[in-house]
Amino acid sequence: MSTPFPTGTILGYPRIGRRRELKKAVEAFWAGRIGADELEATAAELRATTRERLVGLGLGATDSSIPEAFSYYDQVLDAAVTVGAVPSRFQRLVREDGTLDLAGYFTIARGEGQDVPAEMTKWFDSNYHYLVPEIGPETEFHLASDRLLREVAEATTTGYRTRPVIVGPVTFLLLSKASEGAPEGYQPLDRLDDLLPVYAELIAGLTAVGAEWVQLDEPALVSESIEVDRATVLEATKRAYDLLGAVPARPQIFVAAPYGSLDDALPVLLDTPVEAIGLDLVKGSVPELVEGSASTHSRGSVQTGSATEKTLVGGVVDGHNIWRGDLDAAFGKLEALRALSPNVSVSSSTSLFHTPHSIADEPKLDDRLKSWLAFADEKVAQIAALATGLTEGRDAISTTLAEASAALADRHDAPGVRDGAVRARAAALTDADFSRGDYTERLEAQEAALGLPFLPTTTIGSFPQTGDIRKARAANARGEISENEYIDFLKAEIKNVVDLQEEIGIDVIVHGEPERNDMVQYFAEHLDGFAVTENGWVQSYGSRCTRPSLLWGDVAREAPITVEWSAYTQSLTPKPVKGMLTGPVTILAWSFVRDDQPLADTANQVALALRDEIADLEAAGIGVIQVDEPALRELLPLKKADQPAYLDWSVGSFRLATAGVEPRTQIHTHLCYSEFGVVIDAINRLDADVTSIEAARSKMEVVPDIKTSGFGRGIGPGVYDIHSPRVPSVEEVTELIEIALGSIPNRQVWVNPDCGLKTRGYTETVDSLRNVVAATKAVRERV
Ligand code: GLN
Ligand code: ZN
Repeated sequence: MSTPFPTGTILGYPRIGRRRELKKAVEAFWAGRIGADELEATAAELRATTRERLVGLGLGATDSSIPEAFSYYDQVLDAAVTVGAVPSRFQRLVREDGTLDLAGYFTIARGEGQDVPAEMTKWFDSNYHYLVPEIGPETEFHLASDRLLREVAEATTTGYRTRPVIVGPVTFLLLSKASEGAPEGYQPLDRLDDLLPVYAELIAGLTAVGAEWVQLDEPALVSESIEVDRATVLEATKRAYDLLGAVPARPQIFVAAPYGSLDDALPVLLDTPVEAIGLDLVKGSVPELVEGSASTHSRGSVQTGSATEKTLVGGVVDGHNIWRGDLDAAFGKLEALRALSPNVSVSSSTSLFHTPHSIADEPKLDDRLKSWLAFADEKVAQIAALATGLTEGRDAISTTLAEASAALADRHDAPGVRDGAVRARAAALTDADFSRGDYTERLEAQEAALGLPFLPTTTIGSFPQTGDIRKARAANARGEISENEYIDFLKAEIKNVVDLQEEIGIDVIVHGEPERNDMVQYFAEHLDGFAVTENGWVQSYGSRCTRPSLLWGDVAREAPITVEWSAYTQSLTPKPVKGMLTGPVTILAWSFVRDDQPLADTANQVALALRDEIADLEAAGIGVIQVDEPALRELLPLKKADQPAYLDWSVGSFRLATAGVEPRTQIHTHLCYSEFGVVIDAINRLDADVTSIEAARSKMEVVPDIKTSGFGRGIGPGVYDIHSPRVPSVEEVTELIEIALGSIPNRQVWVNPDCGLKTRGYTETVDSLRNVVAATKAVRERV
């Protein structure tokens, strides 16, 4: 007797807590203020509150609709720890019985002494970062954690039957990297056959504690940005789920595939014994299936195979965004899915951990705006309604559907959503607005205007955000210090930073960004079309949370934003000051963006607002302006076919923002990573005069790429790794500069740190910058 898949469910729920309780408890544990018992008690309470809340919002308590998807830090680390994949350098933390305690778990996540933590990288096309597992021939897979079993048991004993969630075996291995020392060409996926028995043991164990369904997340199946060839991925998928399907006394298996369409992986899954398949119908569309053998795979919408034996779980409510959306259309997709299988359920398209907890926590947000939004809790309620529609028919939910449609219509027509002037300006753009003209001419004008030495030195923008700065900002926000007092405080801060740079001998001066809480939110607070939340935190990685702004309307700049700060800075020094802005792509990537028009259109609106800001900076005598685009690669679509169009509009929006200046004005950009790969051509097309990138950590690994790509403009490969308090020596920096000069023409090379200095302390910052300048001077003399 098998229990059916729940009619309505979510793939996951925010783990951090409505008031970031988990973050606070975890950080208190790290600081030694609370013990493991207290942390565990807080976590258990959060899980209990979540279950209760989800039932209150309309999910069933005992029908496996509540996902058991908690994590203390990261779900990929959890999977690694569960299967015993602990890197060699942390083996000493493993206890005699093969398990880790909480302290050991966090040490793997955060590193200790010389033992660096696992690398962190982006989770699909989201802003969440996971820890990359390291798998090698030495990895001994074994079931090394019973945490998931305990959490399911905890639910069972309190009257629930929940659905455990774990990263699936194929995705787990595809997201892993070969451990250090693994032979050339070694792929973690080679270890699939060794890993599967551990998953088999785990899911059998879940049955024993009462689970009737298990959710295995396999988002890697939707992505083409995976280095293993597709045929191998599909073959691994078939092998994995045939084997797991054959486990005796197992829970029923639900394979979820968020973040895109499964394409040719769908027939493969249909051909395995799994009972339910989750489809992301926000990013993908309802598949077309034709009867036939599943062995001939084709990309595209039409696939062979039959789904009539499976439950298809339509992810029609966007888990990745905060809009209330078109519920009627969502229900339509579920109805269309019924043509493929009589068993259709509804879910979120992804886990809801990308969204804040609830709109109820935003009393200050405009009521009309709120009526267009759905955070996690509101999305659960939507799903519960759609589930009712599936069981009782469309009429049963007609009021809910109509209300959502009315909110959508209201949003369409509301003031600010469509601004005639903004639209007219965007419609009148021509190619010339995106183009700056000849680079050689610009270079000469800039060299004449700026008079910089060979190997100019600069920093990326922020200086240490000290406790005093944060205190002053908070006091100002609470009204405890007046606006004037706050401005005076910031000016004094800027003056200190300028004096320091002059004293150290930096050539292009920054103001240090003390006025900015966050490089995106600061601009969101000053532009029309944005709103900011009070409690809209989402997990970015580990205990780190961000509060993305809401980009709901047409974007325009009412008044200059940064000009006064930059002009004040320039008044303090004869050296060139670099104005500092966040680029359109990064502003979009780190906000919740309206979903009612192409991102490209929104990006151009942001770009035009920045273009005005840049024009004002130029008019105020600022000769160097940096437009940061650290998120350029982050938004890159998972499907290759979608990438060229993305790069066209993202590069275009940067150019639109920056192309209005005179040839003598030098445009800089900054990108926070070193693997250029697919985006090198795009970086070139940005047409910035100077590009700074991260390079110190990898010891200038990017330099050969820069050379082969023929990149012809200014480039500052970072010479100081700002990710740790370590001070690089003069010799080290000298060596890095010389590596750069070995491959890149001298006139192009700039000297700068890897990124902003915001998270650093002053002592190490000053020592490091002194060494950077000393190394630069030494090289200047020699060359
Ligand atoms: N200008 C920003 C800073 O210095 C850039 C930060 C970033 O690239 N993430 O902090
Ligand atoms: Zn950076």
